[in-house]
Amino acid sequence: MIQSTSLKFKESSSVFKKILVANRGEIAVRIVRACSEMGIKSVAIYTDADRRALHVKKADEAYSLGSDPVAGYLNAHHIVNIATAAGCDALHPGYGFLSENPELAEICAKRGIAFIGPSGAVIRKMGDKIQARIAMTEAGIPCTPGSDGNLESLDEAIALAKKIGYPVMLKATNGGGGRGIRRCDSENDLLNNYERVISEASKAFGKPEVFLEKCIVKPRHIEVQILADSQGDAIHLFERDCSIQRRNQKLIEIAPSPQLSTTQREYIGNLAVKAAKAVGYRNAGTVEFLLDADNRFYFMEMNTRLQVEHTITESITGVDIVQEQIRIASGLPLRYKQSEISYRGFAMEFRINAEDPKNDFLPSFGKITRYYSPGGPGVRMDAAIYTGYVIPPYYDSMCAKLTVWALDWERVIERGKRALNDIEVYGIKTTIPYYQEIMNHPEFRAGTFDTSFVESHPELTNYAVELPPELIAAAISAAIAAHHGI
Ligand code: ADP
Ligand code: ADP
Ligand code: MG
Repeated sequence: MIQSTSLKFKESSSVFKKILVANRGEIAVRIVRACSEMGIKSVAIYTDADRRALHVKKADEAYSLGSDPVAGYLNAHHIVNIATAAGCDALHPGYGFLSENPELAEICAKRGIAFIGPSGAVIRKMGDKIQARIAMTEAGIPCTPGSDGNLESLDEAIALAKKIGYPVMLKATNGGGGRGIRRCDSENDLLNNYERVISEASKAFGKPEVFLEKCIVKPRHIEVQILADSQGDAIHLFERDCSIQRRNQKLIEIAPSPQLSTTQREYIGNLAVKAAKAVGYRNAGTVEFLLDADNRFYFMEMNTRLQVEHTITESITGVDIVQEQIRIASGLPLRYKQSEISYRGFAMEFRINAEDPKNDFLPSFGKITRYYSPGGPGVRMDAAIYTGYVIPPYYDSMCAKLTVWALDWERVIERGKRALNDIEVYGIKTTIPYYQEIMNHPEFRAGTFDTSFVESHPELTNYAVELPPELIAAAISAAIAAHHGI
């Protein structure tokens, strides 16, 4: 934890005056909050579908991107034009959308707007998983055995898979968000999946390149948060365990990992800093690793942006990562030395998705008839919803994040259960009851789980559906009326 007893206010004059938030949803609200605490004006952007979105209400100013629900958020030139016209001196890309698009960073640089993230060149290099693997191998960071270039043909894939041994992972070189990844257990699987992954990659990322790497069986997903400044200094803020995933997408994240020893924690933290320094990284970033059953770490990818689950790292270290991103982008050196960073307790984040776990996690958009935010000790809510808000169907289904903190593992689970019970979201289906089941699961409670946990436990969706109080009242009235023959 960061300890500070200083009562002095300083340096606010040297950071930005106005920041354009090039995103929507909870992350846009999160960035607006950071700006507000730093005395910086914030500018939101929105498409017609987002006219009533929370980020538009929370920012100091808001500008329309037009009628297409998505295209506006992906139009880098138009967004930078808005930033310039509104008098912004910086732009925060959030996650998703253009956050890992090197062109946005380059356009900003050309137009004299500070991009709150790394340089376009570093985004380009690390966004390409092959380039990243090459850079990491050169830096002495262990990578999963696999391709040293994009696959040119199915024959090449078959030959390489034979060499590294099945199972293998076929992955989109420019992938993200858990898409464009398929496990192949045999040559037959590879034959069936090769064209499929290429087509998924072309559709989702606009680039058909794919590569192969060894599939690590039942791994833990361990990632390290790093911060690096323009002076070349870099530190880590410890790790997060993101092994609770469904279809390669994270559901619950934990910091620090309950599955690492102090020695492993120190090793992986230092390795991530070495990785960041090797590529001349600047700003906040995450180095993702897989940890195999024999406790070996393998570099998987680097995310050159703020991550969804940054909140748990903030909870255990006390560092406000978004504010640090802003300071770094303004040219200030890191505020903390590695020796000043420590962590306390455990934090857990739940991605509250508008989905129905009982129906194969089908998106469940629509009107929030009632929303009540949880509170009490150790509870943080980052939400993009409010009572009466209609969740539009065009975007990611994550509509809120619940982050809880407590001094030890047992209590963070109990706090999670209590806070999940506290929240009220009516009108749509969410992943909240599903997470309650996970909190009660002995394997999870024991703190030993890997990325196969969710798929190995299909029974987690067997919970009883809780009806909203008004429906229960209506059902009771109907039963009484029927009994009396009314
Ligand atoms: P995190 O890495 O922060 O845990 P996710 O992988 O869940 O985040 O991605 C966060 C959001 O960004 C999701 O909406 C996801 O679909 C989107 N996203 C991530 N990477 C990409 C990408 N390369 N292209 C398009 N969208 C992406
Ligand atoms: P994305 O860019 O979509 O986040 P990642 O490369 O980070 O893709 O992989 C997402 C998830 O897929 C990982 O967290 C892990 O669960 C699984 N995965 C990816 N590569 C492997 C692998 N080689 N072996 C086992 N699991 C993997
Ligand atoms: Mg990843």
